[in-house]
Amino acid sequence: MINRWFLFLVFLVVGSGGGYWAASTDGLVVGGLIAVLWWLTLDTLRAGRFLTWLRHELGNESNGTATDAIPALPGIWGLATDRVSKLLVKRDRMLQEGQLRLDEFLAAMQASPSGVVLLDAQDRIEWCNQMATQHFGLDARRDVLQHVTNLVRAPAFKAYMASNDFSHDVSIAGSGNTPGRPVNLSVHAHAYGADRKLLLSRDITAVELAEAMRRDFVANVSHEIRTPLTVLSGFIETLQTLPLKQPDRERYLALMAQQSQRMQTLVNDLLTLSRLEGSPQPGGNDWVSTQSLMAQCEQEARAMSVLLAPNGHNLVFDAGPASDIAGAQSELYSAMSNLVTNAVRYTPVAGLIHVSWTVLDDGRGRFSVKDSGAGIAPEHLPRLTERFYRVDRSRSRETGGTGLGLAIVKHVSQRHGAELQIESVLGQGSVFAMVFPAARLRSVHAV
Ligand code: ADP
Repeated sequence: MINRWFLFLVFLVVGSGGGYWAASTDGLVVGGLIAVLWWLTLDTLRAGRFLTWLRHELGNESNGTATDAIPALPGIWGLATDRVSKLLVKRDRMLQEGQLRLDEFLAAMQASPSGVVLLDAQDRIEWCNQMATQHFGLDARRDVLQHVTNLVRAPAFKAYMASNDFSHDVSIAGSGNTPGRPVNLSVHAHAYGADRKLLLSRDITAVELAEAMRRDFVANVSHEIRTPLTVLSGFIETLQTLPLKQPDRERYLALMAQQSQRMQTLVNDLLTLSRLEGSPQPGGNDWVSTQSLMAQCEQEARAMSVLLAPNGHNLVFDAGPASDIAGAQSELYSAMSNLVTNAVRYTPVAGLIHVSWTVLDDGRGRFSVKDSGAGIAPEHLPRLTERFYRVDRSRSRETGGTGLGLAIVKHVSQRHGAELQIESVLGQGSVFAMVFPAARLRSVHAV
């Protein structure tokens, strides 16, 4: 400021001095006036340049273009330009940091496994993440400022939004929901800020399916146990109340033993399944011989065949090349024996059952059980490995089936990286095969 005064005085003195030198006392005043006008003109020009630069700078900022070069102005205008440009740089940096934080925040919301929709005070969509677009069938750009209830039209959702009671969530059908492929969402609104709302959506299809499966499972187990229990308690009551003769007693006791055996088999299968689900996957360092597995299966199949029909079946076991499978012996045996005993149980007497182990050209190993039994209609095939799913309920019961055998086979196959293949033609027979990956096999000769 002092410099400015000093400069003004210099102008005044030089002007007045020049005027006095040129025209004595009159010249002193005129010279002084000319000097002041000159100084004012120069100062106004500098102020003009400063304001023009500032206007451009603010304009550039609002439309996001590059900033102009800073004008080189002397004196206080130079100082002002310098300070304002520093302030603008600082503000730019703060804006950039703010934008960066906002971008990061939105990226975090995008990464959320839940659908996120931000609503304004009128329930219009302000922003939504990718997951929400999938859940509700929204378009993140097109649907901005649309009323959410115009786009998500489920009556339960409309009623929920209208109720203004967001202490609980609401379940609605999601986008793409069809009877064959249900999509169920849980939607929860949370109020925030000035009447705004945050909508969170979660796909609960799998959870609901698991819950339905759990309910079915408990109902099935109860039913399976209740049947033999009812028979058992009936026999016990008879034995307690009637004076039976020895042959009748023995017959009753044999039937009771059969029912308790049935319950035991069921409990054993349930325990096997729960062990398969709860234990870590079998490692790759324990090797199980396919030949010993085949020998065990053959022994069991022959014993069962004789038991079911005195003339037995035509059983052919082809042990193939001696190989080892990396996995758990008890699991592999349980799966393979289930397939073999199923073939025996569902093939009429004298039918052919061919069990084989082969190593395929691509190095994979195939354990296959082919029978000439009743076969299975195509509509049953996709559901065969479901727990308690039976095509022929009475045959299954008669032969001591639990309805859990193929569920065990599926689990064991998955745990060993094997593929379970089922082919069947009604009235002609079936082929059940477990195909093991080459990585889990080794040829015994190579050891
Ligand atoms: P189950 O104990 O009833 O045999 P599984 O899970 O082993 O239960 O098999 C499910 C159903 O698949 C059986 O009830 C039967 O109807 C059918 N099934 C399994 N194996 C065969 C087969 N080899 N031939 C015909 N049907 C079969």
